[in-house]
Amino acid sequence: MDAKNLVGGTWSGPKARSLPIIDPATGKTIGKAPRSSAKDVAAAVDAAKQAQRAWGAVPAPRRGEILFKAARVMEGRKQELGRLVCSEMGKVKAEALGDVQEAIDMAYYMAAEGRRLFGQTTPSELPNKLCMTLREPVGVCGLITPWNFPVAIPSWKSLPALVAGNSVVIKPSEETGGCATAYVECLVEAGIPDGVVNLVHGTGEEAGAALVAHPDVPVISFTGSNATGRAVSQAAAPMLKHVHLELGGKNGIVVLDDADLEFAVRAILWSAYGTTGQRCTAGSRVIATRGIYDRLVERVAAGAEALKVGHGWTEGVEVGPLVRPAALKKVEHYVQVGLREDKARLVAGGKRARVPAALKGGFFHEPTVFADVTPSMRIAQEEIFGPVTALMRVDDLDEAIEVHNGTPYGLSGAIITRNLAHAMKAMRAFKTGIVYVHNGTIGAEVHLPFGGIKGTGNGHREAGIAGLDLFTEWKTVYVDYSGGLQRAQIDR
Ligand code: NAD
Repeated sequence: MDAKNLVGGTWSGPKARSLPIIDPATGKTIGKAPRSSAKDVAAAVDAAKQAQRAWGAVPAPRRGEILFKAARVMEGRKQELGRLVCSEMGKVKAEALGDVQEAIDMAYYMAAEGRRLFGQTTPSELPNKLCMTLREPVGVCGLITPWNFPVAIPSWKSLPALVAGNSVVIKPSEETGGCATAYVECLVEAGIPDGVVNLVHGTGEEAGAALVAHPDVPVISFTGSNATGRAVSQAAAPMLKHVHLELGGKNGIVVLDDADLEFAVRAILWSAYGTTGQRCTAGSRVIATRGIYDRLVERVAAGAEALKVGHGWTEGVEVGPLVRPAALKKVEHYVQVGLREDKARLVAGGKRARVPAALKGGFFHEPTVFADVTPSMRIAQEEIFGPVTALMRVDDLDEAIEVHNGTPYGLSGAIITRNLAHAMKAMRAFKTGIVYVHNGTIGAEVHLPFGGIKGTGNGHREAGIAGLDLFTEWKTVYVDYSGGLQRAQIDR
């Protein structure tokens, strides 16, 4: 499907300047997206600015009702949207439908926020005086999204912004323009007024950078790579914008001797190879204690070898393609790095995957396992963003925690053990924004905050009530009904 821009309620398809949309399972071009210029972005921002005032004045519960309808519309189009996710970025069917379900969940959740958007009331230090806080919309929000959750991430950003009374301009990934178009169609069908949601496709360097640089966009919410996040942050800093960055991860799963081995293997395979390892929360490191390590290596390697690689929409396929040729090359590069690195042992995968002839133009790689990795190796430190995981051996929980925390990232961590005290200790000690006990590193739910610390983020969170913070300004109100002049800190 061709992607379309939406500016001020008017849809427009790709013109002379366009970007190809490629099916990563076949390498074939399946559509085009408009390649928007800075001028196109400015038109979208203008439309958003015009529309925001009236939208901000709509009572929040009414705004929420439109999001509720959007959830319903997405439910009706779930299969179609899921198919689109699979065809534009390769995710397998169950996960592609899960991507859409996440947007549906977020729409229901944020719809209900329309009846909350809670502030606080609190006593004053003076008599006959009331203190409270209110959330106010900020204005036009620029939302820049990656391809790996091509329906879910635009929803995580746009729905809290909208329920809070902002208008938005979405600049989705070059790879997944059709998914963003279909998602925005659902909002339009639900009754979002013209100009409140605008969609502008294009390259990051051109359309993305123009959105970040636009003086009428006070909020930028960005999810993507660390290098781009830094550039976005630097470009926005002189204008003192609210900038929210969700960046990469190098997530670790700690497995202790007392763990249920078969369960641990299932959790590792799901975390490492779900979405072909192309998740910010992918379990790309496994840190196991000595008593279980060798059995775990053997079972994870066997499990990875047994995973079925192929077209994501084919029943039974568990691992789809990488998103683009450059991503495949990056994985191949890191396999070579791993092989060259001292002592690392390739125990599964390591090559392009063999697939049926119809998929020979696709970007497939075998699920790959390195064992005997040491914590400072590049494959244990750098985000590969592909189907590769690194197993490391440690002596005890303390060492496991140290290794777990020893990367520049801090998104998601997991511990698998039957010992409650060990689980609780890890829960507090992990330097990550998210911790899973008795699970892998993936599985976020939309009503809880999502985000990371250290190199993964800059202190903001998506989803949950915390997801509203970026898109609202706190207004503090003091109401003095004493009839006199009361001076805080002085009249005691
Ligand atoms: P990317 O940084 O290449 O692109 C992300 C978006 O930024 C795209 O829309 C792109 O067009 C745009 N962009 C590129 N250059 C820009 C610029 N100069 N100014 C403004 N916008 C620009 O990332 P990607 O390859 O699409 O996504 C993969 C990365 O995203 C991985 O590192 C992954 O970990 C991360 N990610 C993080 C989370 C999270 O929540 N922490 C979630 C998903 C993905």
